[in-house]
Amino acid sequence: MQEADAIIVGAGPAGATAARRLAQAGVQVILLDKEKFPRTKPCAGGITHKVVELLDFDISSVVHRKISGLVIVSPSGIRVDAIPEDRSKPGFMIMRDEFDTLLVTKAKEAGADVREGFQVVEASQDTNGVTVVSENGEELKAKYLIGADGINGVVARKLGFYEGWPSDAASIAIEVEAEIGEEAVHRICADTTGYNADLFLLYFGAVPFGYTWVFPKKSHLSLGICCRQDLAKNIRQTYDEWYKRFVEEYGITPRVISETAGRFPIRAAPEIVKGRTLLVGDAAGFVDSFTGEGISHAIESGVLAAEVVAEVVESGSSRGLAEYEKRCKKSIIAELKVSQAMAKMFYKSEKNMETLCRFFHDDPYASYLIAASIAGLLPLATVKRKLTMRMMRKRPRDALSLL
Ligand SMILES: Cc1cc2nc3c(=O)[nH]c(=O)nc-3n(C[C@H](O)[C@H](O)[C@H](O)COP(=O)(O)OP(=O)(O)OC[C@H]3O[C@@H](n4cnc5c(N)ncnc54)[C@H](O)[C@@H]3O)c2cc1C
Repeated sequence: MQEADAIIVGAGPAGATAARRLAQAGVQVILLDKEKFPRTKPCAGGITHKVVELLDFDISSVVHRKISGLVIVSPSGIRVDAIPEDRSKPGFMIMRDEFDTLLVTKAKEAGADVREGFQVVEASQDTNGVTVVSENGEELKAKYLIGADGINGVVARKLGFYEGWPSDAASIAIEVEAEIGEEAVHRICADTTGYNADLFLLYFGAVPFGYTWVFPKKSHLSLGICCRQDLAKNIRQTYDEWYKRFVEEYGITPRVISETAGRFPIRAAPEIVKGRTLLVGDAAGFVDSFTGEGISHAIESGVLAAEVVAEVVESGSSRGLAEYEKRCKKSIIAELKVSQAMAKMFYKSEKNMETLCRFFHDDPYASYLIAASIAGLLPLATVKRKLTMRMMRKRPRDALSLL
């Protein structure tokens, strides 16, 4: 007997969003998570304005800081403040325990049957439906399954989507929460144009394919390092060395509140639809390989998956699920391909990182383009095209040296 139309495994941003949208569409949905909320998730907690546009509720109760732009620091230490003049699309800083709990609450409010502490260990499907089994042997059946269980998820592996993430398609990261007090946070991260918002800081050059970061929260900083897994060597030591320089530069004595480590994918999964199952969010590999931003893609894929599952529940034909892949290809996957090309060029060598950062520093229009892409004021493909043309015109020799 089937308990629901759809089961979603994983109640992060992707799963919780899909659950809310499905419940709103009148679909019977069970949302499972192995953890009890609020739960910790290794994450720097930076979200773009697109997240606010995708969600159909107010998130101000969990916002720590409003973000108007970013600071890029080149391998040699050149600082670029990339802040768009158009402030209509600020980003935000959140803490994942609070943000994800809000999303799960909103899924419950919409009518999703949320079951926390349910760790899925088995998943299977046949022509009639899907089955998941918990570590306690509890079995649940439904017509459709959404794998929203992240990079180490069970659903994709059990149903043969992939075995695991190759190390050149994943990044590893260390994330540290460090208390320094509200004033110090603002002093380090304040918008240098005087606008009442903050900036986040990215330092390049310490690792070959990644960066160290400083993200402002209410009274603490999220600090960390990420690097493509196959290129990562001694990242703990690299982080410690960078941290020492950082605290000296700003004259602060942080109190470390927590330290976590995690991984995120940087390439889309080869398949995201199989039989009666869809993958969303990190389970589908939907993270920007240039910036490491995955929350907006997780939410967008949750929205798209819910739309398509609601359609097939209504039509009664699982063949319609293929539409999910088509919609993702047009939106999320197209964007990820552009960012992959940009990442390949930027992270190719320390020299490339330095050349590009110098260009952003010297050319206000180039730094505006970077800021505009982070703020979502311009599509990434447009930014990439305009940046390429601008560099070819202004610095043809540098442009060629990047290849
Ligand atoms: C250190 C770090 C920093 C990051 N910083 C940012 C950032 O600043 N901004 C940004 O946009 N992105 C960031 N990301 C990426 C971002 O965290 C992910 O892209 C995002 O969390 C993906 O959401 P999701 O819902 O797909 O998966 P997740 O958030 O990973 O949620 C998966 C859920 O599935 C549950 N689960 C897993 N296995 C099972 C199981 N077997 N049974 C039941 N439940 C299960 C987990 O408990 C979890 O709640 C960062 C990632 C890392 C590692």
